[in-house]
Amino acid sequence: MAVDLIQIRALAERKEEENWKFRQFVKFGCKLKEKEMDRQVWETTKRVWAGIDCTACANCCREVRPTFSEEEVNRLAARLGTTPLQLIDTYLEPNGDDDNPWQTRTSPCPFLKDNRCSVYEDRPADCKGYPYLYEPGFSSRTMAMIERTFTCPIVYEVIEELKRSWGFAR
Ligand code: SF4
Ligand code: SF4
Repeated sequence: MAVDLIQIRALAERKEEENWKFRQFVKFGCKLKEKEMDRQVWETTKRVWAGIDCTACANCCREVRPTFSEEEVNRLAARLGTTPLQLIDTYLEPNGDDDNPWQTRTSPCPFLKDNRCSVYEDRPADCKGYPYLYEPGFSSRTMAMIERTFTCPIVYEVIEELKRSWGFAR
């Protein structure tokens, strides 16, 4: 499976129009109930993820700017031996969100070192949950998923597998 960012983007561009049609199919054409749909998305994700090494990819750490709660800022500051204020001052900016009010200022993420997360155990929930395929309500999150096909090989491949197994006519 391709993990090169340029290659993944090219593949996703080629599939973009088809993916937007698949979105319509998921919303209006697919006969599966929401819970069954989610179950199949989770099963497919598990299988696809087993075949990909995220440490060889790290595209999300280069593309996405993760958000942090106050508690996550405190935890990361303690790990780095600095104060929350200094951490914010150096790496973060406000984003207007009540629950996760901070976000990295730059991408790639400043905590990505040698293609690995240098703060892995204390990374925020936003990173732990990425690419959010294990969250419920897949059918209402297809727009974000299609956008992620451009950067995440797992999402790209899961969407391709779902098209095949759900009988989407290409
Ligand atoms: S905190 Fe770690 S896992 Fe999250 S984006 Fe940065 S490098 Fe990646
Ligand atoms: S979650 Fe997706 S983008 Fe991030 S490292 Fe894994 S395969 Fe790459």
